[in-house]
Amino acid sequence: MADLRFQRNFGIAAHIDAGKTTTTERILRYTGMIHRIGEVHDGAATTDWMEQEKERGITITSAAVSCQWNFPTDKGTVTPESKKYSFNIIDTPGHVDFTVEVERSMRVLDGLIALFSAVDGVEPQSETVWRQANRYKVPRIGFVNKMDRSGADFLNVVKQVKEMLGAKAVPLQLPIGAEDNFKGVVDLIKMKGIIWHAETEGMTFDEIDVPADMLAEAEEWRASLVEAVAEYDDMLMEKFFEDPNSITEAEMHEAIRKATIDLSIVPMMCGSSFKNKGVQTALDAVCRYLPSPVDIDAIEGTHPDTGETITRKPDAKEPFAALAFKIMTDPFVGRLAFFRAYSGHLDAGSYVLNVRSGKKERISRIMKMFANKQNPIDFIEAGDIGAAVGFKEIKTGDTLCDENHPITLENMFIPEPVIAVA
Ligand code: GDP
Repeated sequence: MADLRFQRNFGIAAHIDAGKTTTTERILRYTGMIHRIGEVHDGAATTDWMEQEKERGITITSAAVSCQWNFPTDKGTVTPESKKYSFNIIDTPGHVDFTVEVERSMRVLDGLIALFSAVDGVEPQSETVWRQANRYKVPRIGFVNKMDRSGADFLNVVKQVKEMLGAKAVPLQLPIGAEDNFKGVVDLIKMKGIIWHAETEGMTFDEIDVPADMLAEAEEWRASLVEAVAEYDDMLMEKFFEDPNSITEAEMHEAIRKATIDLSIVPMMCGSSFKNKGVQTALDAVCRYLPSPVDIDAIEGTHPDTGETITRKPDAKEPFAALAFKIMTDPFVGRLAFFRAYSGHLDAGSYVLNVRSGKKERISRIMKMFANKQNPIDFIEAGDIGAAVGFKEIKTGDTLCDENHPITLENMFIPEPVIAVA
């Protein structure tokens, strides 16, 4: 059984053109090729990667793509003690026409990276997605992209997130340098400067002292960060009043995590995915602050016959229950029904009940979509996301479950997008 604490189901929400595709590309590249400095680099994997450029393009537009992230133990290096996190990145369409699809994807993800352009800030589509994320109580971290562009202004975007989206946005970083000269960030938790090496695709960095001319500003922002999260940790609150310098990094991370999951704060970071800066740090933040499937409440559904409310815990030992959230056709494997398993265990080749149709469906194969390959898996368990292949009739919004333990996870009827006929 997979340890769900190291699993993250998240989406990247952005206004069109803010850099979602570029950021997703970077994530898949970092997770699929060289993980981090210090890790053995498999040359064959690179060639393979290049050859499958086209398929990767298809993966990016896939409803969910899976990858693994090595969470560093110290200073960004990977050692045998590094934790491997499994990511399922769920697509949240960035165009206003697909708002219904965004709604669906919000149901199945546990956290979001809200991506903004450092130049354009909060745009109409970010507001729409934000409201939907509020409705589904999705914890978020903010990533302000395009810091290398002229007119980039991180703190202005932070201000807009507060004023236009009504969120308590708190910077975890301050940019060092701007526009062409954007080099790195002051990490307000470590109180160190991080200078990324772009030539190694941002995988490595130098840690420096906070630049003298930024010290006063950094101390101010750190104090407001500590203040924003102190109420989530009694000890931290005590230290905040007695000796703020005695607060450890681990205590800070834990308090930020709790406040983020509680929807009290939105931690804000910045970078440039185009220039390979900051995306890795954002992925570390996904591990640190966004919830795992076991951090969220058990899902509620109704009994299809009695209407009584039932819950399913994110536990492989519970009866199987999953929600289909997207049907799409993949040129390599055919029709796919992407679903999130909320509870239980499902073997490929076994049967589920489709509650809507009242019929049993054989899920002949279960796939996971990776950056450059589609892998069949033998089974899927609570908390994970996969795609069923070889089914007869599954629609988005359908609950697939153990026939002896029926449950309807979604009563809301969401129509399929209307395709205009000329
Ligand atoms: P999407 O519509 O949100 O998926 O945005 P894309 O990833 O397609 O990016 C839109 C445009 O912005 C493309 O031309 C990218 O090359 C560019 N872009 C993305 N990220 C950055 C960045 O960090 N800096 C700069 N200068 N350009 C970027």
